[in-house]
Amino acid sequence: MPIKKCRVCGHHFWPEPLISYKNMPKSAQFFPDSDSLAQEDGVDLEVCQCAGCGLVQLNCDPVPYYREVIRAAAYSPEMKEFRIRQFQDFVRKYRLKNRKIIEIGCGRGEYLSLMAQCGVKVSGIEYGAESVKYCRSEQLDVSKQYIQSRTKLKNAPFDAFFILNFLEHMPNPNSALRGICANLTTDGVGIVEVPNFDMIIRNKLFSEFISDHLLYFTGETLKTTLNNNGFEVIEQNNVWHEYIISAVVRKKRQLNLSDFHATREKLKHELTTFIAKFAPQKVAIWGAGHQALAVISMTALADKIAYVIDSAPFKQGKFTPASHLPIVAPKKLESEPVEAVIVMAAAYSDEVYQTLNNKFGDSISIAIVRDYGLETKQ
Ligand SMILES: [Zn+2]
Repeated sequence: MPIKKCRVCGHHFWPEPLISYKNMPKSAQFFPDSDSLAQEDGVDLEVCQCAGCGLVQLNCDPVPYYREVIRAAAYSPEMKEFRIRQFQDFVRKYRLKNRKIIEIGCGRGEYLSLMAQCGVKVSGIEYGAESVKYCRSEQLDVSKQYIQSRTKLKNAPFDAFFILNFLEHMPNPNSALRGICANLTTDGVGIVEVPNFDMIIRNKLFSEFISDHLLYFTGETLKTTLNNNGFEVIEQNNVWHEYIISAVVRKKRQLNLSDFHATREKLKHELTTFIAKFAPQKVAIWGAGHQALAVISMTALADKIAYVIDSAPFKQGKFTPASHLPIVAPKKLESEPVEAVIVMAAAYSDEVYQTLNNKFGDSISIAIVRDYGLETKQ
């Protein structure tokens, strides 16, 4: 059944495919023999684009062996040299000496054995049983596994990973990337490589489509995909004669907002000190916007405040939520005067101050809640 929604963001495709191809090879690894030739038919391919994130993808089912990494038996001396230099740079730059690195989809260990020469502890996962057997015969630590969001990897967490020309085969790339992320240390890094669809577009490489490759990443859509699945992209380059997009990623960290608490306590202290200078219930607050309401509630000052002034008629006659102070119109300052007003009107604070100062002059003390704390005006 052809899929109708993006494999990465879930948005629908543009209504028309970008291109449709008839009678295409069934897969990159299927070669009929003389007996099966009569029954063999090509397949039709539709190249679709997500109307949300823009990722280009085939709408067909994955090939039966999509969990396996099948690489040409040998790589050229030029490729070998390129990989060794790349891995050495990666290990040096991200201080991975003696750390644990895993290759996701390691095939017959072609690249794993090169990484092993860089002074790191390597492991791999691979779904192809024969490839796993071969890797083990080469003394490589390889498990027979395919990564998904809930996969627990042996020897996890890893300090780094690499996944080379495998992500584009996956029917559920989000699950795979989240699975990788969950098996990394807090500051885990990785190399993610896919064929470069920017180059395919630029050079009009019409024959690049094959059902093995479900996803066709540009620099932009690769970044979006990685960002949506727990990674920040710290480097991204086109390599290997522009055929490959190579991204270096780092596991995202949760924001640290612990400073917010200290800022709140500082403001609370400044407000308490200011209010203590005046008679009980002789201080008003100006402003019933969301920030003012939050400050009143979080600093627990409600019992020291007479009322809250706000110019919006729909708030007047009501109470502040959570802290339960009456909200009144500005004219209350005349009928029930206070000694001080604390202005919490965000961008309008200076305007409110001018109005109060013009009307009451020195007969009233005024302070303004700023981003950095309490400013005492008079
Ligand atoms: Zn999408």
